[in-house]
Order: sequence, then C-alpha cells, then structure tokens
Amino acid sequence: MKKQVTWTTEEWNDWRWHQKNRVRNLEQLEEWVDTTADEREAFEKTDAVFHMGITPYYASLMDPVDPNCPVRLQSVPSLAETKISNWDLDDPLGEEADMVVPGLTHRYPDRVLFYTNHNCAMYCRFCTRKRKVSDPTSMTNKSAYENLFQDLAEHPEVNDVVISGGDPLSLSDKRLMVIFEELSKIPHIKYCRLGSRNLVTLPQRVNNDFCDMLKHYQSRNLSIFFNTHYNCPEELTDEAWDACDRVAASGTPMNNQMVLLKGINDSVERVSELNRKLLQMRVRPYYIYQCDLAEGVSHFRTSIAKGLEIVKGLRGHMSGLASPHFVVDAPGGGGKIPLSPNYVVGMDEGSLMLRNFRGKVYRYPETELQLSSLTPECLHDKI
Ligand code: SF4
Repeated sequence: MKKQVTWTTEEWNDWRWHQKNRVRNLEQLEEWVDTTADEREAFEKTDAVFHMGITPYYASLMDPVDPNCPVRLQSVPSLAETKISNWDLDDPLGEEADMVVPGLTHRYPDRVLFYTNHNCAMYCRFCTRKRKVSDPTSMTNKSAYENLFQDLAEHPEVNDVVISGGDPLSLSDKRLMVIFEELSKIPHIKYCRLGSRNLVTLPQRVNNDFCDMLKHYQSRNLSIFFNTHYNCPEELTDEAWDACDRVAASGTPMNNQMVLLKGINDSVERVSELNRKLLQMRVRPYYIYQCDLAEGVSHFRTSIAKGLEIVKGLRGHMSGLASPHFVVDAPGGGGKIPLSPNYVVGMDEGSLMLRNFRGKVYRYPETELQLSSLTPECLHDKI
C-alpha cells in the first residue's frame, strides 16, 4: 500500500486539515499513488487551466496502482482532457447568458441558481463549470451577494433557490449562516437546495455544527434539501454514511445527482449497486445526468443510448425510489430534458399497448384522445 502521508485522528476528523492538505502537485500525488507517465504529463498540461485538488480523504479511496480506479479517474488529470472535441463548449449550459446579476442565473420561471463561490474540496475532472471553478479570481464577493439578495427580494415569482458554486460547503458556517438568514427573510422563497459534493469528497465537513445549522434554518417557511453527487459505489464509505446520518438527523432530505461517466458508472450493475446503497443511506437517487459538453471531458461521455439502457435496466427491477430520471441538460441553455425508454409500443382499437419492464405488452383503454388521428410519436408526446 502506497500511503506515505500521516495524520492524527484529530486531524483526520477536521475538515480544515483536509482542505489545507489537499493534493495539489505531483510530489504530493506520488505520496498516494504510483503515477503514470500520462498522469504526470496531464498534470503539467492542465494545471494552469483547471487545478488538481484532492482531499486526503478522497485520495485515501484511490487505488495506488490502478490508474483506471474510478475514484482516481474522477480526481487525477488525464491527457484526454487536452483533447477538445468539436462539440465541446466553454459554457455548455449557457449559464452566463441567463445571469441576471453577477452570481445569479435565472432561467426557469420560479427558481434560480446562486453561485456562492468557485472553490471545491476536490476538483472533479468532469466538471461542467471548469471555466471558473478552481479560479480564485472569479469569486462572488460581498457586494455581489448584497445585489443578489436584493434581486431575489424583488422577484416574487422566484420560490426556489439552488445554492451552488463551486461548492457552498467551501465557505465557513458563518458565511453559510448569512445566506440562510437572508433567504429566510424573503417571504416568497420557500425552498432551497444546497448543492454540494462534500458528502462525497470531504464528509468531515458535514459535521454536527453544520447539521445543527441546517436544522435551525429548516422551517415551514423555508424547506432545505441537500443535493449531492455520488458517482460510484467506492465512494460510499462508513464516513460518508455517518455524514449522511447527521444530515438525515437534521431533518434535511438528501437527493443524489449522478453524472453518467465512462469507465466509472456506465453499466446497470454499477448504478444498481450505487443506488441500492444510497437508498439505505437515506439519499434518494434523483437524477442521472448525461455528461455535459464541457471542454476536455469527452473521454467521460457515453452515448445517450447507454443512459437509456441503464434506466431501462433499473426501472421495475428495483424500488421506484432508487430509479432516477435520466436527463440531458441541453447545450446553450435549453435546460433539463428528461429522456425515458419508450413504454408505449402502439395502439389498438382505442387502447394503448404498453410494455412493462419484463417486455410483456399490456392493453390499457384510452378514453380521451382521438386515437385514430394520432401517430404513435405524437401520442407519446401527449402522455
Ligand atoms: S464539486 Fe461540483 S463544481 Fe466542484 S469541481 Fe466537482 S463538479 Fe465541479
């Protein structure tokens, strides 16, 4: 076993120690794994654009000798990142175009995306926001926060705020408290979704103090949800489970948004294993995201057909609670588009012909549509 780094129990349980001791260069990486020539060259070529940053906790999950370890693939640079495909975009979701004030994207009628900062405990190599994440000069500052709360107060149609980044849990509890306090004061804000990968990459951050804060701000006027993204079963450690227990005890529901990644979770078996355990941990598998068209991540991207195959392999074979929606976030700001295998196989004499998860076809009467005037495609659109 490679590990050359040492720590005390007190240090290991202290999230600030992990942040301070993140793996940021090759020398530090070599204390954890036997680096390959590809990884070394990739680090030299990519670090100026998108830094490497791995918490000791996440580094401890890497296989020291296998460069294809799913944890390692998500955190250590690869030369494939230097290849930009024709489809790749700097801002794949068109988030900047919908930014109404700095730090606030308003695309959907009733909800907004709030970028708290651009730091993360770990920099995921497949990140959609590479264009600004890991760049300390692109932070949301105090006056931007003030403008942003002002804008929210002036938009009564907004009732849901997604608190994102970077990772909001890179901020201190004191800063997070200010955010929750300000949101609580705006009567039309009813929900807020805290989007953080710290449950995966730094569960020590999700400590009792933080969870007490969540509990404090949960109210009938403001419901707080914790959205995270576990991507593979190797990330579901005892420490992660303990952190999820703390969040659950605070009364905060948790959802998982898995990104579909080649070589990491692109099979029914891998996703089933992940989702079954997540459900035990009280984290509901909510979305499977098709990997966005961000620059330098095409090596992670699977076909859409692969996503549909996985959804088909889950639906009916395991609890509906563990069968997430598969979505493509449309390039250029089109928003999330759900995709599903087609279970409507046709129609016959006023009935829909529906296929179940075992492939058996059943007849169900349709009473409202004028079936004779519909093709199977537009029928599918209507239901
Ligand atoms: S935690 Fe999220 S924002 Fe941060 S690097 Fe990972 S994917 Fe990107």
